Amino acid sequence: MSDPRTTNLLDLDRRGLEGFFAAMGEKSFRAQQVMKWIYQLDVDDFAGMSNLSKALRERLHNAARMELPRVVMDRLSADGSRKLLLQLADGNCIETVFIPEKERGTLCVSSQVGCMLNCSFCSTAQQGFNRNLTTAEIIGQVLLASRALGGDVQHKRAITNVVMMGMGEPLLNYDAVVRAMNIMRDDLAFGLSKRRITLSTSGIVPELDRLRAECDVSLAVSLHATNDELRNELVPINRKYPIAELMEACRRYVADEPRRRVTFEYVMLAGVNDSDAHARELLRLLRRVPSKVNLIPFNPFPNTAYVSSDPQRILEFQNILINGGIVTVTRKTRGDDIAAACGQLAGEFRDRTRRRERQLEVAVQEVRG
Ligand code: SAH
Repeated sequence: MSDPRTTNLLDLDRRGLEGFFAAMGEKSFRAQQVMKWIYQLDVDDFAGMSNLSKALRERLHNAARMELPRVVMDRLSADGSRKLLLQLADGNCIETVFIPEKERGTLCVSSQVGCMLNCSFCSTAQQGFNRNLTTAEIIGQVLLASRALGGDVQHKRAITNVVMMGMGEPLLNYDAVVRAMNIMRDDLAFGLSKRRITLSTSGIVPELDRLRAECDVSLAVSLHATNDELRNELVPINRKYPIAELMEACRRYVADEPRRRVTFEYVMLAGVNDSDAHARELLRLLRRVPSKVNLIPFNPFPNTAYVSSDPQRILEFQNILINGGIVTVTRKTRGDDIAAACGQLAGEFRDRTRRRERQLEVAVQEVRG
């Protein structure tokens, strides 16, 4: 079943599956049947796909597989959020977090093992970058969380919203992420509307235009600073795509739909980006882009020099934005008792750890002569 020479069907969106079946000389509706089996009926072996001929099931058995990450830990936070630790075929681990609210259930999904962007206030950055996730590993998070949350997969799903806000920069893993989001949107799979899927990016400008044209999900942008000097320090990719270019791309993203808005995420760092003057500067920046603002109290992690703004400061900052006509909410910190809050999804890097262990072994041997 996990022969890596076979095609992992979870790597393919509907178009990909149709191509796969066409190459086998099969009709394209096979793609639809198989998609339903995998995502709606949760069948994980070909033998159970009873509307496929026995011969086809046999051929699939030899040419394809349905390989998911393995759940190695499942932790429930006191506030009801739930973190799954998933192990990938190469031993790397990633995390996915489910956040239940009254009216909806949001799954926070990772796109990479680690991250290359090195934002100064994010704990994922401390871990460095390991690799991109495959489509199967991204959609696998949704499928496994959906399973873990129980219920009837077909009728009542616990997951009503997905945010691409876990580990990694989703637009630096563009193709795999878009394929996975296509599966999230597909009526034969999760059937989530584009409004219920939000991709959060640090602002990879060229990919934003592509995303608008090709997948068009809701957009959140990690702004965090109102001038280039400060943003260069907090979100170093700003040196490549400075604020003016980013804001222009955001304006284009929502330009042809009147009620659409970009969500700007803004981490509240005491004494760094949280003054009244910053709030007013933010208002000026947002003038030309239909927007909402999400203020995120900083979640601390070991060895960070940053401290979160206190609640009073956040409230005052928020009021300036609201009085300026911008819908602004402060994100509640959820799941911090299980290290699942924003910026705390550090995962576990088994192979890096092993590498470190090996280095240590070599060093020890050298010392011993
Ligand atoms: N890589 C994506 C998703 C990041 S996680 C992106 O950059 O948009 C979602 C949000 O949490 C981002 O806005 C991110 O900047 C923010 N974040 C990261 N570390 C944080 C921390 N320690 N405290 C609060 N928010 C943090």
